[in-house]
Amino acid sequence: MELHEILNHLGEDRQAYRGAVAPPVFQTSNFCFPTLAQMRSALTDELSNAFYTRGNNPTVEILRRKVAALEGAEDALMFGSGSAAIAAAVMHFLAAGDHVICVQKPYGWTRALLDQMLRRYGVETSFVDAREVSAIEAAARANTKMIVLESPNSMTFEQQDLAAVAELARAKGWVSICDNSWASPLLQSPLALGIDLVTHSATKYLNGHSDVVAGALCGSADHIRQIFRGPFMTLGGILAPHDAWLLLRGLRTLDVRLERIQRSTAAVIAFLATHPKVQQLYYPGHGVHGQAELARHQLRGGSGLLSFRLAATDLAAVDRFCDALQCFLMACSWGGYESLIFPVGCVMTAENYRDPTHSLPFDLVRLSIGLEPADALIDDLRQALEQL
Ligand code: PLP
Repeated sequence: MELHEILNHLGEDRQAYRGAVAPPVFQTSNFCFPTLAQMRSALTDELSNAFYTRGNNPTVEILRRKVAALEGAEDALMFGSGSAAIAAAVMHFLAAGDHVICVQKPYGWTRALLDQMLRRYGVETSFVDAREVSAIEAAARANTKMIVLESPNSMTFEQQDLAAVAELARAKGWVSICDNSWASPLLQSPLALGIDLVTHSATKYLNGHSDVVAGALCGSADHIRQIFRGPFMTLGGILAPHDAWLLLRGLRTLDVRLERIQRSTAAVIAFLATHPKVQQLYYPGHGVHGQAELARHQLRGGSGLLSFRLAATDLAAVDRFCDALQCFLMACSWGGYESLIFPVGCVMTAENYRDPTHSLPFDLVRLSIGLEPADALIDDLRQALEQL
């Protein structure tokens, strides 16, 4: 199916909605049945039938079908946040005594899930620099059950060789999960490379309008059915129908937004790469980690999230740079229509910013490139860099 058909038409049975071009929001918690036989029949498959909105809802189901098709998955589940999607996927497969391997620098709350919460339930996690598959292999134990990937990760953009890791996971009998939020389904397809499950913070590019928090989980029909009957229904971290509707609207422009964001990001990177006040650029295929060959091979281009180190002598200089920006809003999430700056220094103080225990340097800032004209963004960065 063509991309525009998935984004704009898949799952939208307009005749069933009396010709409405935009689908209705099925704002109902409950569904009723004229006969007991029909109720009984619906209950045999709550994943596919509308019975109770914690399980399935027609507005959410349209979204599930679209997101699954975008990822090339047999099925998908939508959650109330990306973190809920990750938690459901991870928790379904683990029990006390199991071991997990995870990339060294995952999203912070993914680390907290594994390192703090699941540790309390008897699950141990090794965080490894997974740029080389050999490092993953070296961390394997007899009780390893799962590998958790984030390629590229969302602060310094290290990649993992997804096909090679998937092959290793298959050979060892591990479940492999990849957070694909940075690339969106349009720029990377982990399932096609052999990964078992893909998660998204749908809050980011999939929605793209900074007005919904949502998550997605994509995989085989069998895995999705198991997770539906397990953590999805028991933990109940569902996406509300109205938020699903907003996401359907956001998705319609995913390809157009990404095209624009990619063009502007390339221009911003070209500007930053030669600027004397920029020490170091972090972006797949550029800068510190290189991995250019892997980026070419595994990604179909880059998204709009990048980081760089300012040539700042102290934390006050980082404050001056950030405060001088006019076009970039200072905020933490990313992937929306608006350009953002997120400075690592926001979790530091003048007293502790040189503490070597910080995992990231005080002068690292992350940009999320939005839909403003590239020239305006570059002019803004130029004038703010002069404040250093
Ligand atoms: N994964 C990545 C890479 C993220 O950056 C985030 C949030 O920022 C999440 C997952 C969690 O998603 P959410 O905020 O939708 O729960």
